[in-house]
Amino acid sequence: MPHKSGFVNIIGNPNVGKSTLMNGLVGEKLSIITPKAQTTRHRILGIVSGEDYQVVFSDTPGIIKPAYRLQENMMKAVSTAFTDADVILYLTDVKEIPDTQLPYVKKIRHSKVPVLLAINKIDLVTQPEVEKLMNGWKEIVNAETIIPVSALHNFNVKELFGEILKHIPEGPEYFPKDALTDRNQRFFVSEIIREKILKNYQQEIPYSCQVEIDSFKEGSVLDRIRAIIYVLRESQKGIIIGHKGDALKKTGTQARIDIEKFLGKRVFLELQVKVAEDWRNNDKQLKSFGY
Ligand code: GDP
Ligand code: MG
Repeated sequence: MPHKSGFVNIIGNPNVGKSTLMNGLVGEKLSIITPKAQTTRHRILGIVSGEDYQVVFSDTPGIIKPAYRLQENMMKAVSTAFTDADVILYLTDVKEIPDTQLPYVKKIRHSKVPVLLAINKIDLVTQPEVEKLMNGWKEIVNAETIIPVSALHNFNVKELFGEILKHIPEGPEYFPKDALTDRNQRFFVSEIIREKILKNYQQEIPYSCQVEIDSFKEGSVLDRIRAIIYVLRESQKGIIIGHKGDALKKTGTQARIDIEKFLGKRVFLELQVKVAEDWRNNDKQLKSFGY
């Protein structure tokens, strides 16, 4: 069977049980949840890996897919929670009344990404009440599936995961199957840098960049990180660096601020720009980037 992998953004209002569900979905793999989960917008809360799948859950809008996935989506510059995931899991609970005016619901209605809707906390109500809610949501949201769960009591959570997996595309593993923490940190750090590149440069530039963490030295007060931004051509190098280095400085500062938030620690970030001709088609180069 081909390997599947993908990103699932869990969206829902506060208190509906997103974190509880995440724990249930991730189960024993809990240890790979990043320690600073609550401190960053770039958190990945849970990676569930099996022999032939890897599903990356996030309950935060805005998680960015690794570069080569972005390349596939090169033309779609917008990356929001509603476009950069493979599956949107909208989580509601038995207290939330189906309503088009609820936050997110409008976006969910127009989502091009498949939406699964789960109604949580069904342990608190009767079966007819659950059915009424399911019918209510059916009217409002064009969901692939509406599935009642109780995250707290681990009811239907496995089934929900099965439904999610149906919508996960073929793809490689993004993380080692045992997802080592420090590897994750490096990944997040490079993603943060890449996000700033996406923000600061136009057109094809961001898609021509690859970020590699060259060294990551943890210190007691300060982590020293050196990252290399690989571009395809000499001319792109000039654009990345900018007049008197201004553009690179700006990117570096923005990235450092977010990396510090993510690591909960002060960071010295050094960015270098190098040309790696056609890294996108070079197997050896891709391997060295961890693909
Ligand atoms: P989040 O804000 O969406 O992440 O919600 P949390 O996971 O923090 O859960 C909010 C509250 O709802 C907590 O007190 C949970 O224990 C509770 N909760 C979560 N899932 C269930 C459930 O299936 N049944 C019941 N009765 N309570 C739940
Ligand atoms: Mg939460």
